[in-house]
Amino acid sequence: MTKIIAYGIREDEKPFVAEWQKAHPEVAVTITTDLLLDSTVDQAKGYDGVVAFQQAQYTDKVLATLAGYGIHYLSLRNVGVDNLNPAAVKANDFKVTNVPVYSPAAIAEFSVTQLMNLLRRTKEYFHKFARHDYRWAPEISQELNQQVVGVIGTGHIGRVAINIYEGFGAKVIAYDKFHNPELEKEGLYVDSLDELFAQATVVTLHIPLFPETENLLDAAAFAKMRDGVFIVNASRGPLIDERALIAALDSGKVAGAALDVLVDETKVFNQDLAGQDMTYPEFWNLDSRDNVLISPHTAFYTDVAVQNMVTQSLDANLSLIETGKSDKEVSFD
Ligand code: NAD
Repeated sequence: MTKIIAYGIREDEKPFVAEWQKAHPEVAVTITTDLLLDSTVDQAKGYDGVVAFQQAQYTDKVLATLAGYGIHYLSLRNVGVDNLNPAAVKANDFKVTNVPVYSPAAIAEFSVTQLMNLLRRTKEYFHKFARHDYRWAPEISQELNQQVVGVIGTGHIGRVAINIYEGFGAKVIAYDKFHNPELEKEGLYVDSLDELFAQATVVTLHIPLFPETENLLDAAAFAKMRDGVFIVNASRGPLIDERALIAALDSGKVAGAALDVLVDETKVFNQDLAGQDMTYPEFWNLDSRDNVLISPHTAFYTDVAVQNMVTQSLDANLSLIETGKSDKEVSFD
C-alpha cells in the first residue's frame, strides 16, 4: 500500500485530509502536527512521499535523510519554495511540487474588505465604541463607487479584485508589465506606474516580490500620488518602504493603508506574543494608527484555500509516487 506522511497538519486541515483519505482507500496517509525538521525527519522512514507546509527551513540534512530512506518526493501545501536549498534538492534527487493557485478570490476579497474598512473608518468606530462613545460625527466616510482604483498586477488575484471593484461601480485602472487580452479590450491599462499614481485614489498591489519590485512604493512613488490616497498591500511586505509610508501618513499624502504583509512580518505574524517584547518600530508605529489596518498575512486563509492546499498537495504527491511526474512540479534550474 502507498504510504504518505503529512507534516505540520493544523486542526483546520484535518477534515480535508480525512476527506481525501476517504476518496483514496488505496493510500495510507499519516498526519503529524510536527514540522519537518532535523529532529522529526525520522518519522518519515518507511513512507513513499512527504507532504509539508512551514515557514522554517527544510534543511539540507532533512533532504539528505529523506533521500537515505529512499524518499525523493516532497509536496508543499503552499506556493513558496524559498525555504528549500536548490542545490540540496538537486543533490538528493528530489522532485518537489507546490500549490501555485489555491484561491485567488480569498486574497482579492480580503483586500477589498480591508479597503472598505478603511473607507468606512471601522477601526476608529471600534475604538470609540470601546470608550462608550456612540456618536457618528466627525468620522465621515468615503464611498467605494467614487474611487479610482489603481490595480498594480493583473494576474490571478488582481483580475478577481478588478471584477469585484467593477461590481461596486468603482473606476478601475491597471498596470502590468504583461497585458491580459481581456482587460486590454476593456481599456483598463495605463502605460506607466507614474500615470497610475497620478490618477488613482486607491493603489492596490498584486504583483510578486522581485529585486526590481522591492520598495516599489517608496518616497518618490508616494510623492507622485494624489493627496489622500489609500494603499492596500496583500502581496508582499517589501514592496513598500515602511518608513516612507509612515512619512506619507504623517503628511496626509496617504489617508490610510491596509497591510496584510509587512517587511519583517516573521517577527510578529502567526505567533502569540502576549507579554513578550518585540522590536519592530515600524510595526508599532503603523499599528498604533486608526487609519492603518494590519492583518497577519491572513488574506489567503479561507476554507476553500485550505482545502485546495491539502487536496492538491496530496494529489501531486500521489502522482509523483505513481508516475514520477506531476503538473505541479517546481523547477529549481
Ligand atoms: P500572478 O503571477 O498570477 O500575477 C502577478 C502579476 O504581476 C502578473 O500579471 C505579472 O505580469 C505581474 N508583474 C510581475 N512583475 C511585475 C512588474 N515588475 N511590474 C508590473 N507587473 C508585474 O500572481 P497572483 O496569484 O495574482 O499573486 C500575486 C501576489 O499575491 C503573489 O506574488 C504573492 O506575493 C501575493 N499573495 C499573497 C497572499 C496573502 O495571503 N496575502 C496569498 C497568495 C499570494
